[in-house]
Amino acid sequence: MSKFVFVTGGVSSSLGKGLTASSLGRLLKCRGLRVTMCKLDPYINVDPGTMNPGEHGEVFVTEDGGETDLDLGHYERFIDESLSRNSNTTTGSIYSSVISKERRGDYLGKTVQVIPHVTDEIKDRVLRLAAEDVDVVIVEIGGTVGDIEIVPFVEAIRQFRRDVGRQNVCYVHLTLVPYLAPSGEQKTKPTQHSVTELRSRGIQPDVIVCRSDKDISGGLKRKISLLCDVPIEAVVSAVDASSIYEIPLVLHEEGMDAVVCRTLGIDPADHPIALGEWEGLVRRVETAGRPVRIGVVGKYVNLPDAYLSVVEALRHAGFHHGVQLVLDWIDAELVPGLLETDRLHDLDGIVIPGGFGERGIEGMVAAARYTRTHGIPCLGLCLGLQVMVVDVARELAGLAGANSREFDSRTPHPVIDLMPDQADVVDKGGTMRLGAYPAMLAEGSQVAEIYGAGAVTERHRHRYEVNAKYRSRLEQTGLCCSGTSPDGRLVEFIELPGHPYWIGTQAHPEFKSRPDRPHPLFRSLVASALERAEGREPRLIGIDDLDPVG
Ligand code: GLN
Repeated sequence: MSKFVFVTGGVSSSLGKGLTASSLGRLLKCRGLRVTMCKLDPYINVDPGTMNPGEHGEVFVTEDGGETDLDLGHYERFIDESLSRNSNTTTGSIYSSVISKERRGDYLGKTVQVIPHVTDEIKDRVLRLAAEDVDVVIVEIGGTVGDIEIVPFVEAIRQFRRDVGRQNVCYVHLTLVPYLAPSGEQKTKPTQHSVTELRSRGIQPDVIVCRSDKDISGGLKRKISLLCDVPIEAVVSAVDASSIYEIPLVLHEEGMDAVVCRTLGIDPADHPIALGEWEGLVRRVETAGRPVRIGVVGKYVNLPDAYLSVVEALRHAGFHHGVQLVLDWIDAELVPGLLETDRLHDLDGIVIPGGFGERGIEGMVAAARYTRTHGIPCLGLCLGLQVMVVDVARELAGLAGANSREFDSRTPHPVIDLMPDQADVVDKGGTMRLGAYPAMLAEGSQVAEIYGAGAVTERHRHRYEVNAKYRSRLEQTGLCCSGTSPDGRLVEFIELPGHPYWIGTQAHPEFKSRPDRPHPLFRSLVASALERAEGREPRLIGIDDLDPVG
């Protein structure tokens, strides 16, 4: 039977609950346990698909087309498992099911209440993840204890321990231990208050993870142990790490995974840990060599979390090549003014990531054109591909005023247009082309060589496509539509023969990159950028050139 770990947070948001949960997941996997993860989000949106990435961060897309919280990206990257939409539940989705059941009469005339109906629905969502082939389900609860919206979730996980048995549940609570410079002290009071709040809801934590910018001393751990009633070995000091991939090693050093195992009745001695590969990865991060500058041209550059998976995919590629990735966040709206400066020219490569809405589009088109005409490696992701096509249409195909219909409904040349089945969609939630779709790659093309395959599957999230009516006109310019849907109707990849690296994909390959297995498109982009950085004559990058450096 599966065991369950619930991770809650106190004191403040943004303490890194998702990363702590993911790191624990990695450690348990390194002990040979089979792990899956999920996130319970107390907000009312049915899913984060309709939320502004500039406020909430990226929307992570799962293979089955779930639009989920960005923490699922951390989960997938750390535990190296593909999750499904079932791994993210929100208050909105819980209420939506409860209300449908009520309308169908499933509650047989009962008064429908938070306890038991809403809490039962929450528990069902968690239980659904338990399976024959899962040893541990790690459940992260979004928000902090004390929030109004979190109460039903905390109540549900409290009941959970009684339902499945004490020895099958472990409660981990993450808090902040701030350092007060004037008195030179680390303070435990916020931790005490937050544990008191959790206890007032009937949950006694088994493990307390203390986030701090300084190590938590033995004396301080004893104090927290005494006041919060947890064994001293269950007080974990989680100091700020220099890279997120170091966190599993920090937590293991502190003995966290062993304590969690023991709480769950799993003898750590029966599951010795194999951390060698992960340590190797962290060493590569630490010994990164020459810097490679990659510009990210987008409109949400003030909140880099909006492009979290893109950044991580670039980092993974950097680890692979042993280079130090230097990111230059470029506000797309400012690009036209930057063209006369060295800012773009000094970059070794550019990524134009996904996005929605008109703001910044002309800057992205200008950036695409600049990289095309200056031989700078450029990778366009979804919207990125679309602006590359707009550039080629206007500059090479002579289609003046060409645009995506998303940004100019009256353009004379809608080279990017709504998919036919999207034309009448009114509902904004979950109605895009979402999740994994296959693509066939043209033989001998750069993408086929980079992937080392003739057919690939990538995750999608968009409403617009390259307009089939313009395809031959675009191809006459030399642009190569090097990947299409299996029926040949939709353009999935473009590239520009003769350019060292000018590749666009209608998908979001960043979601599938893993720290020890960088995605081929990012790996090859960074390889090409490295060549530019080294001042060598840029040349075509193929699969044989992708060996790690050093
Ligand atoms: N806005 C574009 C579309 O809907 C691109 C979406 C994206 O970049 N994910 O097609």
